[in-house]
Amino acid sequence: MGLTNSAHQEKIIQHLQVDGHHHVADRLQRCADALVGRHRDGGWPWRCGSAGCCWCGARLLRRWSWGLRTWISETGGENVATITIPLSAIPDDWLYLTLCLRRSLRDLRDRAARQDDRWRSVMFAGLICEPEKPVEIMVAHPAISAIGFSSMITKRNPLRVVRTGLPDGLVSPRLPVADAARLASCRRGIEPIRIIIPRQRTSVPNVEVVASGMDEPMPMAF
Ligand SMILES: [Zn+2]
Repeated sequence: MGLTNSAHQEKIIQHLQVDGHHHVADRLQRCADALVGRHRDGGWPWRCGSAGCCWCGARLLRRWSWGLRTWISETGGENVATITIPLSAIPDDWLYLTLCLRRSLRDLRDRAARQDDRWRSVMFAGLICEPEKPVEIMVAHPAISAIGFSSMITKRNPLRVVRTGLPDGLVSPRLPVADAARLASCRRGIEPIRIIIPRQRTSVPNVEVVASGMDEPMPMAF
């Protein structure tokens, strides 16, 4: 760390060039060049919009971090929690980790909902943007007490530690160089590092549904 944003962006661009992602690198370079204009004229500034860009990515992460937090706290009210997944449980591949985590959290919720209907309303949200740190996932469990939620999670998943309440602040808006370049080269915004598990859609017992993500008000972040 300690680099200015411009120096950080330069390193991300170099990384993309080395990996052969020249088109993406050019867009990030154009965004860096346009920065001068952004400060000087009053016109609509051009931005690359890439999740891997030092400026556009930070803006996206901040907005999503805030949006997910609001979504969870408005749904869960008092019944919100943070699950921390320690480093030892994290595989090498950062984007693959997000994919696995998304699946395993949904499976965990769906398994619990087969035993207890109240689990249908449990929702998870998080951004995996600090690969070096333990992952923090926010949870809304509006129909389940803190003790009930904690004991179920701990029983089923000894690696996961639960604490009541949401994380202290928003996620760090700056990704490490290699991770920023990887995310930029995916060209899918922050979707590869975002976890959103909405509540189950149906109240029919023992019917497994794949939550579409469209049945609940979604976080206001774009
Ligand atoms: Zn940009």
